[in-house]
Amino acid sequence: MPKLGCVRVEIEILGSGTSTGVPVVGCGCAVCLSANPRNKRLRSSVVFTVTQGNQTRRLLVDVTPDIRMQALRSGISAVDAVLITHTHADHCHGLDDMRALYWCGGKKAIDLWAYPESLSSLKQTFAYIFDETYDYKAIARFETHTFEQEPFTVAGVKVQPLQVVHGNMRVAGFRVGDAAYITDTNLVPETAMNLLKGCKLLVLDALRKAPHPTHMSLPQALEVAREAGVERVFFTHITHDLDHDKVNAELPDWARLGYDMLRAAVEENGRISVMEPKPSGLPPFIALR
Ligand SMILES: [Zn+2]
Ligand SMILES: [Zn+2]
Ligand SMILES: [Zn+2]
Repeated sequence: MPKLGCVRVEIEILGSGTSTGVPVVGCGCAVCLSANPRNKRLRSSVVFTVTQGNQTRRLLVDVTPDIRMQALRSGISAVDAVLITHTHADHCHGLDDMRALYWCGGKKAIDLWAYPESLSSLKQTFAYIFDETYDYKAIARFETHTFEQEPFTVAGVKVQPLQVVHGNMRVAGFRVGDAAYITDTNLVPETAMNLLKGCKLLVLDALRKAPHPTHMSLPQALEVAREAGVERVFFTHITHDLDHDKVNAELPDWARLGYDMLRAAVEENGRISVMEPKPSGLPPFIALR
């Protein structure tokens, strides 16, 4: 795929929920009981779709415990690579379910990119997947790669890692062209802020309104997006504290809560387009008794 600059980069939010997802099991709060489909949040993940002409590349960011439902409802049957932000369970414990996408991709090992410590952690948690001598056919296979601060190329697409702070660990955000995704962070350091310069579209962690030691609050996230100078920001990794419509009414028009299946793209001409899923495209949810 030729260099970025004349391509379309889309981010689809596969899940916009915090680690529990929303509704939270057993919770009877107004947001968890809400009939608004935009208050239904699977665990946080996005897919970058990079298109030039008839060439398309899909980079999946994280593999949540909801990956099966996310792939089914968004019609994703194959990806060109998986990028890992960090290895907390809500971001990686769906790794085994990548086997269906591995089969759809013709059983070609899927490129998996992660920080070295994230890869070590995945190899511990999913030892059988990474054990080449493990004699069982029904698992996914991965070709593993690590990155640090420098950009790397995946299926012809240049990816710029953005190192951010998440409590006592580092998390990788990713910039592709003029679109970026940063989840699970309480601090975006200066280096990452500089790498965000000129970025037009951002999907960013904003847990809730109240401060949290390892995630950004909504006011903090809004400030980071403002400082980065992005044209549009969508917030993600949201708890049941935030009602979609109520909170959106309080935000400036360039900032919105993200929601599952929302797609936003930086088009070839540099403009941002936002594609809202039709109601019929939203998943059914079982009512609480
Ligand atoms: Zn998380
Ligand atoms: Zn609730
Ligand atoms: Zn986390």
